[in-house]
Amino acid sequence: MEEVFTGSFTQQPPIPDEAVEAAVAVMRSGRLHRYNLVPGEAGEVALLEAEFAALTGARHALAVASGGYALAAALRALDVQPGEPVLSNAFTLAPVPGAIASVGARPVFVEVTEALTIDLDDLAAKLGQARVLLLSHMRGHVCDMDRLMALCDAAGVTVVEDCAHTMGASWRGVPSGRHGAIGCYSTQTYKHVNSGEGGLIVTDDADLAARLILGSGSYMHYGLHGTAPPAEAFEAARWSVPNVSGRMDNVRAAILRPQLRGLDAARAAWLRRYRTIEDGLRGVPGLTLIERQEAEAFVGSSLQFLLLDWSDAAVARVVERCAARGVSLKWFGAPEPQGFTATYRHWRFASSEPMPRTDRILRAILDMRLPLTFSLDDCMLIARIIAQEVGRACNRKDAAQ
Ligand SMILES: *Cc1c(COP(=O)(O)O)cnc(C)c1O
Repeated sequence: MEEVFTGSFTQQPPIPDEAVEAAVAVMRSGRLHRYNLVPGEAGEVALLEAEFAALTGARHALAVASGGYALAAALRALDVQPGEPVLSNAFTLAPVPGAIASVGARPVFVEVTEALTIDLDDLAAKLGQARVLLLSHMRGHVCDMDRLMALCDAAGVTVVEDCAHTMGASWRGVPSGRHGAIGCYSTQTYKHVNSGEGGLIVTDDADLAARLILGSGSYMHYGLHGTAPPAEAFEAARWSVPNVSGRMDNVRAAILRPQLRGLDAARAAWLRRYRTIEDGLRGVPGLTLIERQEAEAFVGSSLQFLLLDWSDAAVARVVERCAARGVSLKWFGAPEPQGFTATYRHWRFASSEPMPRTDRILRAILDMRLPLTFSLDDCMLIARIIAQEVGRACNRKDAAQ
C-alpha cells in the first residue's frame, strides 16, 4: 500500500481564544465602526495601527479592508494616473496587476529569476519607463533589497512593497515593507494573520499617510487614528483626496491584535515545517529547490520547487499523481488558470509582451501551502510522497528520451 496524506492544505488553525473574546466584546458593545467610540476610548482599529507601526518600526500605519485595497490605495496616494505605466513582477497573483488596473494604469512586467524573485537586470533596463514599482514579494521570496533600492533610488522610482506573503519577514534585519515608500500587507485567511479579510499599510511619509487615511474614508475623523501625522499634514489633502471607502472595522482589528503578538512564534513554527519538507526533497533527481538567502528571514507559509525544462505532460503527471495521494500542488504552468495560479499570460486586463525567460520559470513552478495545522510528521510524509512521484516521473521521462 502506498502512503497517502489525508490532511487539508487549506485548513488554518482556529482563532486564539483571546482574540475570540476581544471580538465578542466589540460585538457586545455594538460599536463596530472604527469611529464609533465613547469618550476616552481608542478603539481596536487605532490600537492595531499603533501596534503594527511599532512592530514594523514605521511612523504611520493604516488598517484597511483588504490587501488588494491597500495596494490600490498606495497607488492612489502616489497619484498614479490613468494610462500611466507601473512596473511590477511578472510572477505574482492577480490582485497585484488588478490594483494597477483599478486605477486605470498599465502594468509593465519585469521578468522573474530561478530564485523566484524579480530579475534586477531586467528591472534596471525598464526603470526609465515608469515612476512607480509595485514590488511583489511573491510567495515570500525577497530579492536583494539593497541592490533593488539602490537602482530605484538612482532612477527616482518610488517603491511600493506588496508584503502579502512577507508579514513578519525581513531582509538584513529590516522588516519587509520598510524599504520602499509604502508597505502593504494582507490579513486575509491564507496569509500570516487571519481576520478573514483585511489589510495594513505602513509609511514614514506624513504626506502619504494623510492621503492614505483620507482616501480610506476617514471623513474629518483622521485625528482618531492610531498613528496619524499631525493636523498640518491634512491641511491641503483634506480638500482634494477622493474618498474611496475601505476602512477596517473593530471586530477584525480585535481578532488581529493577539495574532500580531504571536507572529514571531508562528514564523518559527512555519520555518520548522518548511525546513522539514525542504530536507525531504533535497537530492531528488530533476527537482530544483529554491535556496534561501542568508540575508532573508522568511516566513515559510508556502513552499515552491521547480521541475525545470520538463515537458508540460510530465509536470502534469506529477501534479496528478501527488493529488491522488492527497498532496495538493499548484502549477503555474497550466494552460488555463486554476485556483489562484493565473499568470501574466492570463490577465487580459493587463496585456503584456510574451516573456520567454519568465515562461520557462512559470512552467516549472510547483507550489504548496503549509498551514500551521500540519505536524512535522505530516511534513515528512508530504516530502516522501513528492520525492517518490517526482523520482518516478523523472525516470519515465528519461527512459522516454
Ligand atoms: C493575497 C494577496 C494579495 C491581496 O490580498 P487580499 O487581502 O486577498 O486582497 C496581494 N498580493 C499577493 C501576492 C497576494 O497573495
